[in-house]
Amino acid sequence: CGIVGYIGQNDTKEILLKGLEKLEYRGYDSAGIAVQNEDGVHTFKVKGRIAALRQAVDENVYAPMGIGHTRWATHGAPSEENAHPHQSASGRFSLVHNGVIENYNELREEYLQDVPLKSDTDTEIIVQLIEKLHEKHKDVTEAFRQTVRLLKGSYAVAVMDRDNPDVILVAKNKSPLLVGLGDGFNVVASDSMAMLQVTNRFVELLDQEIVIVKRNAIRIQKLDGTPVEREHFIAEIDA
Ligand code: GLU
Repeated sequence: CGIVGYIGQNDTKEILLKGLEKLEYRGYDSAGIAVQNEDGVHTFKVKGRIAALRQAVDENVYAPMGIGHTRWATHGAPSEENAHPHQSASGRFSLVHNGVIENYNELREEYLQDVPLKSDTDTEIIVQLIEKLHEKHKDVTEAFRQTVRLLKGSYAVAVMDRDNPDVILVAKNKSPLLVGLGDGFNVVASDSMAMLQVTNRFVELLDQEIVIVKRNAIRIQKLDGTPVEREHFIAEIDA
């Protein structure tokens, strides 16, 4: 029920965990993070609270980017398998999602009959669809836009691509999502509170927008690819 993401230079684990602690009020039956470095993607998930996730995270893994989630289950029981992040069949794409995909059954039947699913969530359908559409289009941003266009329901999502360590893709519809701006890093979060630890500059997103988040730039687009310009605002720091 809350998501965070970070792409920068230094290690990400602590920033993600601290951010999730701030979002725990939104939901807390399970939690997870996936961080990505030159060795690949490292995913840690637990049924339970962020304190349990903290115990499960390998402190020897250092990675300059990652995504995280605290879950309030809507589809699939609270369990480690159903905790986010979810991975695509090949392991290439990792995704966290806040919200409910209303047409996940239809999407599975139409596009994913041949894909064995690893969880009972509506969420996994999104990440499997990205991989499926990427096989067809070869362009990751295009596959992401096309996937998002097929979704009905509410979502704030963040996606990492193992083969592209320079970008986190996000999208939003009817679930809150902000992009936070840093010097040499950028972040995403369901609530600015989660990332006030690293920045107070945030950009608001509107429904049916995606953002290409890089270390030194963000690009907002509509679902047809049209660029969107938007000023940031300064979030109040309260203790
Ligand atoms: N519908 C998703 C699930 O059940 C996301 C729930 C949430 O927003 O935490 O896994």
